Amino acid sequence: MLSKIPWTIPLLLVAAVTAGCGAATRQESTDPARLSAGLVAPKNVPGDPTDRQQATIRRLDPALLDALTSATADARADGVTLIVNSGWRSRAHQQRLFEEAVRTYGSEGEARRYVSTPDASAHVTGDALDIGPTEAAEWLSRHGSAYGLCQVFANEIWHYELATTRGGECPEMLPDSSYRG
Ligand SMILES: [Zn+2]
Repeated sequence: MLSKIPWTIPLLLVAAVTAGCGAATRQESTDPARLSAGLVAPKNVPGDPTDRQQATIRRLDPALLDALTSATADARADGVTLIVNSGWRSRAHQQRLFEEAVRTYGSEGEARRYVSTPDASAHVTGDALDIGPTEAAEWLSRHGSAYGLCQVFANEIWHYELATTRGGECPEMLPDSSYRG
């Protein structure tokens, strides 16, 4: 670690000079010097909406992925980073999540308020996004309808689906996911 300090300090100084008053645009890059200088966003961040290597992103419905891509760029311009904590899920993964919820909440009926079965889950068909962190979910609650993205369950501020047209009006939320069946 100590051996890295002589390299890091000059890089930071270069960054301070080239970034001016923080006007440098963050861009995707794998260039280590630019990464360590904080000038670019690192790749391979879990849930990075632009990283199609990740199945949770790549296997989303194409129209939902388009909406997410637009929203991600506009949020970034506002200084907000959208992260997909969970997008597409396999049926097996959803089944495990549901079984965990049944253990946690004590019954299937109660568990369905928080986690859908594989047959009911929009994540399994690639039609849902769980967005974090909180400030990103809040950004999407204000701006999501511009992309057709809507919060659909009142008790899940992080869960978004393509539920209207771009610029349309989001439907009234369901109280929780058990109302979908
Ligand atoms: Zn969700």
